[in-house]
Amino acid sequence: MHFDILTLFPEIFRGPLDESILKRAQESGRLTVALHNIRDYASGKHRITDDLPYGGGGGMVMKPEPIFAAVEAILAGETGVPIILLSPQGRLFTQAVAVELARYRRIVLICGRYEGVDERVREHLATDEISIGDYVLTGGELAALVIVDAVTRLLPGVLGDPGATFDDSHARGLLEGPHYTRPAVFRGWAVPEVLLSGNHAAIVRWRREQALRRTFERRPDLLERAELTAQDREFLARLKREKADTDGYKPLGPHKEPPLEHVSKSS
Ligand code: SAM
Repeated sequence: MHFDILTLFPEIFRGPLDESILKRAQESGRLTVALHNIRDYASGKHRITDDLPYGGGGGMVMKPEPIFAAVEAILAGETGVPIILLSPQGRLFTQAVAVELARYRRIVLICGRYEGVDERVREHLATDEISIGDYVLTGGELAALVIVDAVTRLLPGVLGDPGATFDDSHARGLLEGPHYTRPAVFRGWAVPEVLLSGNHAAIVRWRREQALRRTFERRPDLLERAELTAQDREFLARLKREKADTDGYKPLGPHKEPPLEHVSKSS
């Protein structure tokens, strides 16, 4: 997979791309990233890349010419390459979108700054517009890194264990269950016995039930689209009955304080 990233701040990428899995993916040739400074494609002595917004108002807008020039020079006529504009107004980046993008050989990412980019970039150059969440960042660089990271770990051979992404949260519509490692007992808190049992089938079922329980408790909306077996549905029905029985009674976790309104004023 090759990413062409257009940015005014290429240095932002250095740390994340130079460590751990993204670094190894580049060393093995599975990932290549070309950082293109948009300023290099701006004309004039001062290589200006932004200007005042037409119609007034605060902030600056990124000019279209350097962005068009950069993409055209980089792609040199190659077609079929997604040209993605990072924007808080784009379609939401999810695991499903990461899977979709991982099928491409090459992707262009355009990082905006300031008030954003001239609308003509979105209308006549970008083929896609992606947001990493419903909040506004100072620039598209962190969003581009999120996409590079999530897509790269899906590429064959990037993770040591080829099945590692299979049970990940969101990979198949569920959140993943809890993980434990040594020691078996830490400060008196023991690892669930089934994980030490050596009974592979029981462990697989326990993990599935934990994933179902977690999704039911934290993101029930995901269950509507998850692939569920008859056994899963039975388990979920049991969780629903349990919830109905305990509704109205909400135990506090061991570390939680009661809400302030429940604390007597005199105490
Ligand atoms: N004025 C714009 C708006 O309200 O839609 C926001 C501009 S933002 C300060 C500057 C740049 O950061 C955007 O052009 C985009 O490239 C990037 N950006 C900000 N939030 C983002 C998000 N949630 N996802 C992807 N990119 C984002």
